[in-house]
Amino acid sequence: MEARRLSQISTSMIRRMFEVVQEARKKGIDVVNLSIGEPDFDTHPEIVEKACEAMRKSFTHYTSNFGIDELRAAIAERYGVEPKNVMVTAGASEALMNAALAFIEEGSKVVIPSPNFLSYFTYAKVCGGKIVQLKTHPTFEIDVDALNELMDKDVSLVFINYPNNPTGVVADEKTLKAVVEIASDCNAIVVSDEIYDAIYYDKKPTSLAGMENVVVVNGFSKSLAMTGWRIGFVIASETLLDSMLKVHQVNGVCAPAFAQKAVADVLLSGKADEIANEMVGEFRKRRDYVYDELKKMGLEVVKPEGAFYLFPRVPINCIEFAEKLVEKGVAVTPGLPFGDWNENYVRISYATSMENLRIAMERMKEFVEGL
Ligand code: PMP
Repeated sequence: MEARRLSQISTSMIRRMFEVVQEARKKGIDVVNLSIGEPDFDTHPEIVEKACEAMRKSFTHYTSNFGIDELRAAIAERYGVEPKNVMVTAGASEALMNAALAFIEEGSKVVIPSPNFLSYFTYAKVCGGKIVQLKTHPTFEIDVDALNELMDKDVSLVFINYPNNPTGVVADEKTLKAVVEIASDCNAIVVSDEIYDAIYYDKKPTSLAGMENVVVVNGFSKSLAMTGWRIGFVIASETLLDSMLKVHQVNGVCAPAFAQKAVADVLLSGKADEIANEMVGEFRKRRDYVYDELKKMGLEVVKPEGAFYLFPRVPINCIEFAEKLVEKGVAVTPGLPFGDWNENYVRISYATSMENLRIAMERMKEFVEGL
């Protein structure tokens, strides 16, 4: 019998889109998939080589719950914090779950600006939090006054994510600092998910690492195209890390040892930025292309400053739009799972080749014109 805490959690939307694509493919429709949430690049061969070497050197055991010293030190150096403020986790997802279980009091409010990464809603529900959403449409930027209005002493945690999935928006430093200040006044923790921090175009994202009451979550899934390796990390005060350790010691336990070693080696070699920048150069071309095409179609869309998604407004309900568009050979993600007020938005991922994007934009243009 399923536990009551899961009663509000559904997997139907994701399953539905998967089925829709499968059905279309079975009918012989060639579908270009623009719903992918990971870089389309493979992990750089040098990192793979370093991992093989690490395995041969017996990095095949448990590590400290906090991660291997070399990796903690390399991450700490990047942020200008102490290694004792770094905890390595099994992907950013494990870090987010640890933070949710550590800081969301049952029955307390969890503030999530909408649209946002859909997992935050699940973490909040699993932990018995009451979700309070903050509308950010149509600019997708946080209105600090509006946030101030809905914050009170019942809020335990605020999730923010910049560069943002699904909009690509990068928040400015002033807004971010105001969010932390407002949350601190209510004794709430801010979880700043900075997983896309290396994927930005002109506006450099601000990190909230080192601020009081803030848990920074990051990892290498996106910046080094390592989604399958499961290396994430948290930066927070020792007090907050102690609370998260209570969950992490039984949840992730430790991240894969050889993967930790490979990441530490690539960070220390100075090659990590080069690998990320090469990818970003490619993403930038695609962003410019898809953004221009969507504008030509007459769709309202915010130009992304980071990540690899666009979140255009569409003229009909997002589910109907996505289901009908699949029939024309393009898969996108409906906006609804990203929170309230998103029924007329879809997420487009440009983590696919320029050739695929050209085909997809041509098909989408024809579809939109026919609506
Ligand atoms: N946060 C955001 C905003 C994401 O988009 C994703 C991946 N889709 C994650 C966290 C999870 O990252 P990881 O693979 O490191 O668990």
